[in-house]
Amino acid sequence: MTISHERERLRYAVIGAGMAGLLAGIKLKEAGEDFTVYEKADRLGGTWRDNRYPGLTCDVPAHAYTYSFAPHAEWEAYYAKGEEIRNYFELTATKHGIIPHIRFDSEVVSCIWGDDEGCWTLGLPTGEQVKADVVIAASGVLHHPRMPDIEGIDSFAGRIFHSARWEDDAPVDGVRVGVIGNGSTGVQIITALHDRADNLVHFQRSPQWIMPVPYFRYSEEEREAFRRDPALIDAIRYDEEYWSNIHRFTRAITEVDGPDIAMVEQLCLDNLENSVRDSELKEKLRPDYRAACKRLIYSWSYYDAVQQPNVVVEREGIARIEPEGVRLKDGRLQPLDTLVLATGFEADRFIRPTTVRGRNGASLDDAWSVRPTAYYAISIPEFPNFFMLNGPTSPVGNFSLIDIAERQWDYIEQLLEPLRQNKAQAVEAKAEALAAYDERRIEAARTTIFGSGCSSWYLDATGVPASWPWSYEAFADAMAAPVMDDYALTPALEPATAA
Ligand code: NAP
Repeated sequence: MTISHERERLRYAVIGAGMAGLLAGIKLKEAGEDFTVYEKADRLGGTWRDNRYPGLTCDVPAHAYTYSFAPHAEWEAYYAKGEEIRNYFELTATKHGIIPHIRFDSEVVSCIWGDDEGCWTLGLPTGEQVKADVVIAASGVLHHPRMPDIEGIDSFAGRIFHSARWEDDAPVDGVRVGVIGNGSTGVQIITALHDRADNLVHFQRSPQWIMPVPYFRYSEEEREAFRRDPALIDAIRYDEEYWSNIHRFTRAITEVDGPDIAMVEQLCLDNLENSVRDSELKEKLRPDYRAACKRLIYSWSYYDAVQQPNVVVEREGIARIEPEGVRLKDGRLQPLDTLVLATGFEADRFIRPTTVRGRNGASLDDAWSVRPTAYYAISIPEFPNFFMLNGPTSPVGNFSLIDIAERQWDYIEQLLEPLRQNKAQAVEAKAEALAAYDERRIEAARTTIFGSGCSSWYLDATGVPASWPWSYEAFADAMAAPVMDDYALTPALEPATAA
């Protein structure tokens, strides 16, 4: 007699307790699954835990930068501060009962697929090994600070640190502060410190286009209204204008000769022309590449900040760092007490340096030797039951990464179905599917605005934009339903038989 073989519950390992890992945890908990979230730090929050610099704000509207299932009435303003977002994730994780499932101080150092066992073995720094049938890599994108290679950097006599490793006891009030780096981070720090530092120097290797955006605070009455009526929150989250701006932005990225990018460029240009009074400063701040080629900076107050008398925009190149400050290529010294390195992140690392090995010992480093990639940003051939959230080739730009991760999760859940129903033991993208996807993606990526001739973390080591190159609608459509023919399913184990 044959008895039906119910697969034992799948064991899930989620790597990372940031926004995406918590999302996976919440969804797995709702589905009644057996899961653990491994977190290298002693606190959750990912990028919102690591980044604590003054002025840290998310430039996606707060009500859109929340999980769709966990609206939040308490945001203080249209754009949320980093600390508020960190608290939101802690609150949401607590409310959904995820905290007991998180193993803190548990960095996953290796992740090895066992061909015989048909499951993953995760190694922790203690030597402990744990088994998982499914791995969800939610280890973030921008989490390895990039330290600049500047001569004399170790000789600085004051305080020097990366923006993502903010030192709370470093002096910034009433002293001379320098900020190297002009991405979203550097701009936010300058904006926050201009009325605290005595002298503030913004070292810009490349100027940035600045998109003016509205900023306003919510009153207590408005928050009370949000608490009483979540439909008011939805009205903001799903606001037609917000979404038409998203779609306009993706058209701007993908149609480099179209009217939408022209509008973005005009808005940025008008902002520069109308906001900056001094003509010399205006020229210093004028980029020589197209708007949105680098990640567009959204700011309502940067130009005001750099026009304060105690703020200097320094476009002269840096020769070296000396004990007293920054020596410029023209020989001048900018003397400083504190120097912040807002120099960005190693954006091509993803789950690495964790050692990941798939079928037959296939190494992730080898698979990614040219560039990190994954089929639809989710799955890699030879790495069965290994799924990424916000993985390589995901959309980047001025979008909510939460919305992106939620859509990716819905897609992953559909891939999990054959495993959950015991119709397959493993699922992974087919090599030919990834190759075809890569070819199409790279061809399209080259023609996006990101590839129009500037340096940025959007470019991979070969100079190709590393992101989703099509519209947001196309991303949403792709995530709605996987093409299952593009996935290889390993048959489930033979049903157990009994005499
Ligand atoms: P980033 O955009 O990569 O900017 C790094 C900056 O450092 C650039 O201006 C770069 O100049 C400069 N730089 C790097 N090495 C240098 C060197 N050796 N000498 C002089 N300058 C150097 O990094 P980020 O500002 O930290 O932002 C990274 C990403 O984080 C953003 O694009 C965004 O996705 C995210 N972020 C988001 C928010 C938000 O509000 N949602 C806020 C902050 C960050 P070049 O341009 O000349 O290379």
